[in-house]
Amino acid sequence: MLKDKVAIVTGASRGIGKSIAINFARQGSKVVLNYRSDDNGAETTKQEIEQNGGVAILHKGDVSDFYVAEELMNFCKEKFSRIDILVNNAGITRDALVMRMKEEDFDSVINVNLKGSFNCAKHASSIMLRQKSGKIINISSVIGIIGNAGQVNYAASKAGIIGMTKSLAKELGSRGINVNAIAPGFIETDMTDVLGDNVKETILSHIPLKKMGKTEDVSNLAVFLASNMSDYITGQVITVDGGMVM
Ligand code: NAP
Repeated sequence: MLKDKVAIVTGASRGIGKSIAINFARQGSKVVLNYRSDDNGAETTKQEIEQNGGVAILHKGDVSDFYVAEELMNFCKEKFSRIDILVNNAGITRDALVMRMKEEDFDSVINVNLKGSFNCAKHASSIMLRQKSGKIINISSVIGIIGNAGQVNYAASKAGIIGMTKSLAKELGSRGINVNAIAPGFIETDMTDVLGDNVKETILSHIPLKKMGKTEDVSNLAVFLASNMSDYITGQVITVDGGMVM
């Protein structure tokens, strides 16, 4: 589905980003694997792709830095001559009730999740505009739709991504660039491993399919949104959440 495409996946050293990168490569895309600190995780993603005959290169850098994001896009363009797909997946949480949330907890989550997505979309879109084609996929969250106690910062960042997705879709649609968001529910990764058993039980009670999602549940949709199969879909927010939000 992605034969000869070139993709950048941010936050590809583990979790959902790793699964998206591996799934893209399986479908024939060359992949730039961005990550911030986890060298072993990023190398493992790269090796898994290469063992299956795919092509992947690593890019270590913090996407919340405007110039690092620009350098990531230029790096991809230099290595592979183009950027067909950008997945803004890098994300963090710093949960606390608002009374206890520190200013730096708010700023860091907004900087990585929202500003990082803006930085990458801005620099990638200038290359995609010249190509007159591209697919941007932003990883939001159901929390950006329904909110969550203890996640004022995270919910704001993920709601911001939804507004940014729709605005970018309107700006870039006439130039052949599709922009969509995926809003995962509760997916089994390091990010959700830290939740206590009773929190998990409460969450499961609100999920009609009565199970947490797997990273492949998200990456399968990412493949579809990155492929020509979704050419007439833009500005959408698609939940992958076992029916939790409907
Ligand atoms: P994860 O396992 O914690 O992985 C996060 C990834 O983001 C890592 O590869 C990490 O790289 C990278 N990253 C963090 N800050 C970065 C930065 N400043 N620059 C570049 N890379 C950075 O998280 P996940 O569960 O896979 O989540 C991936 C995305 O899905 C996030 O946007 C998250 O908000 C969203 N999401 C997840 C769930 C869920 O249930 N898991 C639900 C809804 C939405 P290093 O480790 O190398 O620093």
